[in-house]
Amino acid sequence: SDTTLVADLQARLRDVPDFPKPGIVFKDITPVLADPRLFGRVINAMSAPFRGQHITKVVGVEARGFLLGAPIALSLDAGFVPARKPGKLPHRSVVERYSLEYGADGVEMHEDAILQGERVLVVDDVLATGGTAEATAKLVKRLGGELVGFSFLISLDFLEGPQRLGRDKVTTLLTF
Ligand code: AMP
Repeated sequence: SDTTLVADLQARLRDVPDFPKPGIVFKDITPVLADPRLFGRVINAMSAPFRGQHITKVVGVEARGFLLGAPIALSLDAGFVPARKPGKLPHRSVVERYSLEYGADGVEMHEDAILQGERVLVVDDVLATGGTAEATAKLVKRLGGELVGFSFLISLDFLEGPQRLGRDKVTTLLTF
């Protein structure tokens, strides 16, 4: 396994205080994405717990979940599905509303994005309150998918996202 990954991530993640509003410390992953070796190690480590679990679809949550979810899908030999903010998808869609750390929003997926019985992994960069991931998981289940787990780069554990989603379902590379 990749024993220096946590330290290398800690060195490259950027904390941006008071973005997008006062009191939020934004975890900026762009320096990680810009480093091809570190980016590759992140994709490998986020995929690893789900190898051999017969994942058929990876759902990436807009927008940074797309950046991690698409390469994770390829590495697991699974399809990629975008979960978007409401009103962006062109085809018939299903929507779930939720409240989050900063503001309120919703998440939407195409109604044919997940087939009955598919084994699904949900991916995002940061787990905060878990509202976004929980809403995404609800959509997956409404479409007949089996929610195998969640893979995050970062968990803000003090917001108790893992409890909300079920600790056994959640994997993260870094916790704060
Ligand atoms: P939540 O629904 O509260 O778990 O919020 C998760 C969503 O908001 C994810 O899509 C994250 O990318 C984003 N997010 C929440 N808090 C932060 C943070 N402190 N830094 C970066 N992104 C965040």
